Amino acid sequence: MDILTISGSDKLADALRGDLITPADQLYDEARKVWNGDIDRRPPLIARCADAADVATAVTFAAERGLPIAVRGGGHSVAGQALCDDGVVLDLSMMRAVRVEPHRRLAQVQGGALWRDVDRATQAHRLGVTGGIVSETGVGGLTLGGGIGHLMRRCGLTADNLVEADLVTADGRCITVDASADPELLWGLRGGGGNFGAVVRFGFRLHDVGPTVLAGMIIYPLADALSVLPQYRDLIADAPDALGTILNLRLCPPVAAIPERLHGTPIVAINMCWSGDIEEGHAYVRPLRNFGRPMLDTVAPMQYVDLQQMVDGTSRPGKHYYWRSVDFERLTDQVIGTIVEHASRITSPLSAVPVYHLGGAVGRVPDEDSAFGSRHAGHNINMFGAWEPDRDDRDRHVAWVRDFSEAMAPHSVGQYVNFLSDEGSDGVRAAYGHRWRRLVALKRRVDPLNLFRYNYNIDPGRE
Ligand code: FAD
Repeated sequence: MDILTISGSDKLADALRGDLITPADQLYDEARKVWNGDIDRRPPLIARCADAADVATAVTFAAERGLPIAVRGGGHSVAGQALCDDGVVLDLSMMRAVRVEPHRRLAQVQGGALWRDVDRATQAHRLGVTGGIVSETGVGGLTLGGGIGHLMRRCGLTADNLVEADLVTADGRCITVDASADPELLWGLRGGGGNFGAVVRFGFRLHDVGPTVLAGMIIYPLADALSVLPQYRDLIADAPDALGTILNLRLCPPVAAIPERLHGTPIVAINMCWSGDIEEGHAYVRPLRNFGRPMLDTVAPMQYVDLQQMVDGTSRPGKHYYWRSVDFERLTDQVIGTIVEHASRITSPLSAVPVYHLGGAVGRVPDEDSAFGSRHAGHNINMFGAWEPDRDDRDRHVAWVRDFSEAMAPHSVGQYVNFLSDEGSDGVRAAYGHRWRRLVALKRRVDPLNLFRYNYNIDPGRE
């Protein structure tokens, strides 16, 4: 679709406080880049919005012309949902302000903020909320899909802490949603993705966090994984909520925190965060260090904001990515065998296999409080394929991801929507399970024409 076919776009440009970027602009190629370099879309219009009024103006413009809308938060969707080829992109990257109200234990976060914006502002008050483990990830997509991270076992998912939001809906209105003003819509925003409109403000409940947590990584050789993982499984079975751990099986990345001699070595890393009393935490960390002979142990008291940037260098924007994921219940011997077998065949030094430990506060939130579908899984595994842009063996990396995910399928108890990629509408429906009909009813109410469709789409026409 060409800009020339969209009437009135000059008026839209005049009406915005931010910018309207078109294919004719020098900025265009930069503006249409997202984190995954494998995505190449050419939106006819990119409205870089400066405030909620801009968002409402751009939504009204699109709605009047029946144009679909894509919303760009942090641009980290691996499926490239921040962009479209045939409509208007609402780019929220100018809207990153965070205001903390410590007396109300609330953070007011604009819709285009990144996790590093939130962590920095909330940590100034020693407060925090569960956020993504890479600081450049957007608050928008992560929250609306659920939000898993280091603090989830103590503080719940990011979405569990979403107590209010300002949302621009498909009719161009900006409405405030909370537990008394439209609780059903608040339910949908907690896991139902970007289906219901553009969130211009998130209101998060905050928790006491830090500034210091006991955190870091303990790295074992991948060759020891069959002995390390069963010990890890037994330890976390009774772990207090304050202990958050994420396994990562991969070739050791060349990042500053890790000595050069280890770069490229096959490893299983235990990335951990103890967010309780530091002295007490040492007792829980000790066994993690004794599963064998660690190649590296960086666990020490550290600033929470530093932990939140610890693995930033391992997933750079512009590389090419493809992923799949599976929720599963337990690290049985069979599951461990499958994970280790496929991780040992990893095809790229950029690929990785993070395994998140859920449970704790995540599992205690009543199922009906949110649209999030992975509430009762014990773990989520993300088969994360990545390669250099100039390498043409995409098929090999993608095949590794697909084979791995097929091997994990018999153990699957669900899927986290934010880790879906090309599973299509059947995959989305399956991920939402019994919540689907309720989500469709909500979608029919707030966006019956499905203008907001570049997301894990709740198709209003699908029963
Ligand atoms: P975008 O691509 O901008 O948006 C993704 C979707 O959300 C789109 O449909 C978009 O329309 C919608 N959206 C975004 N902002 C808004 C808004 N303000 N209003 C309405 N809709 C909006 N997930 C976790 O849970 N925990 C992690 O630790 C984690 N780590 C990650 C690390 C990396 C390197 C990457 C690439 C992803 C990670 N994810 C993680 C997955 C992440 O949650 C999703 O990729 C998510 O979509 C990213 O949100 P975004 O705003 O950056 O993405």
